[in-house]
Amino acid sequence: MVPVIALVGRPNVGKSTLFNRLTKSRDAIVADVAGLTRDRQYGEAQWQGHTYIVVDTGGISGDEQGLDMIMAGQSLQAIEEADAVLFLVDARAGRTAGDEQIADHLRKRNKRTFLIANKVDGADQDSIMGEFAKLGLGDPLGIAAAHGRNINPMLEAVLGEEGVVSPDIDEEGNPIERLIVEPIGTKIAVIGRPNVGKSTLVNRMLGEDRVVVFDQAGTTRDSIYIPYERHDKPYTLIDTAGVRRRGKVFEAIEKFSVIKTLQAIQDANVVIFVVDAREGIVEQDLHLLGFVLEAGRALVIAINKWDGMEEREKEFVKTELQRRLIFAQFADQHFISALHGSGVGLLYKSVDKAFESAMTKIPTRRMTEILEAAVAEHQPPLVNGRRIKLRYAHLGGSNPPIVVIHGNQVDSVPRSYTRYLENTFRKVLKITGTPIRIEYKSGD
Ligand code: GDP
Ligand code: GDP
Repeated sequence: MVPVIALVGRPNVGKSTLFNRLTKSRDAIVADVAGLTRDRQYGEAQWQGHTYIVVDTGGISGDEQGLDMIMAGQSLQAIEEADAVLFLVDARAGRTAGDEQIADHLRKRNKRTFLIANKVDGADQDSIMGEFAKLGLGDPLGIAAAHGRNINPMLEAVLGEEGVVSPDIDEEGNPIERLIVEPIGTKIAVIGRPNVGKSTLVNRMLGEDRVVVFDQAGTTRDSIYIPYERHDKPYTLIDTAGVRRRGKVFEAIEKFSVIKTLQAIQDANVVIFVVDAREGIVEQDLHLLGFVLEAGRALVIAINKWDGMEEREKEFVKTELQRRLIFAQFADQHFISALHGSGVGLLYKSVDKAFESAMTKIPTRRMTEILEAAVAEHQPPLVNGRRIKLRYAHLGGSNPPIVVIHGNQVDSVPRSYTRYLENTFRKVLKITGTPIRIEYKSGD
């Protein structure tokens, strides 16, 4: 399970500055993919090889009355669902009434909280720190988010070996019992915005097939894992919609959670992304798809509620989807009705194919042949009068497949050339349904 850290604090203490610093890698990916927009509230971040999720609960302002009212919606939910809270205060402004209100709230919720005094650059540290210690949340750790100061010690304290945050222990330090059922086969996450039809689809996908009855412990944040077999093939559905067995029918019981969705994406092999044909692609869809791409997951797109649509409407939706999902062309699209079951069987074909592609194993000799042919067909450009040399390639990982290319001046390979190589490998190896990553290594 990927740990989740929520940034909490009054406006202007530096939450988004810290968020941006922690999620830098995401910037690069989103900037490189035309048509995607960045989610300014949720971000994936890496620290010493560990992935974690950062949430900027920007909406909270302790200065106003009725904190409970203010901390409504997804921000409050994010605090509830986080493994730890980084409570930011402003070392330049000193302690305020707003800080005290937020501190009260966090203490009552018994959340693992780290008190972080931001903007210590230039502040008179000792007196300020003493002032913040009176918030009753321990001694503050001073950082300067804008300058990157003390960020690593902060992350060490939260995520490191001695860190308090493990998603597998609760606030009191007791282990959280999570998976009772071991996942089997292909792990499929069914994700999408509220009301697009995820629960209905999950019910359909499980259908008449035998399902093990399960009653999985865990927090409300956790997705339900449903192992099953279909035509003798093992799968595990990661159900973000919170469908649970009740009698013979599955019934949706939990509300939408972005964090749950992000964790399901991380843990899946293949994501089925459900879109409501009647609503089309909206901003939140693009944010969620951004996370799927960033995680490198295999992807199948299900355009749901295709029943009862007029022909003209269907044509319009199709055109619109081509335009907006241009960055996800590698993914199969299915027009389905989860309600009536049409098109659902075909989804499995795409899931299987995407999984197979994502797990492809290719010998280095074959990879290098493909690279050589690609380079012969279309040479990399000259840089400062010297031609970029790409010597050999090997497969560096799967789900997503990572093509590692060794050569000289590889830092100067233009994006367009990388895209050319990616397309070539995709075509020759018949890889569909999964992103491919190209990584370069310099030297011989
Ligand atoms: P948010 O409202 O909590 O998200 O705060 P922002 O991240 O937007 O930051 C508010 C202001 O504080 C901006 O002008 C930032 O440039 C500034 N700021 C953020 N971090 C630092 C820091 O470490 N030092 C200083 N001096 N200013 C900072
Ligand atoms: P979730 O929030 O994504 O899990 O969405 P639900 O599965 O709860 O579905 C939301 C609403 O859309 C419900 O009223 C469903 O009956 C309806 N719905 C789901 N799939 C379809 C479909 O294929 N066609 C139509 N017309 N309605 C659907």
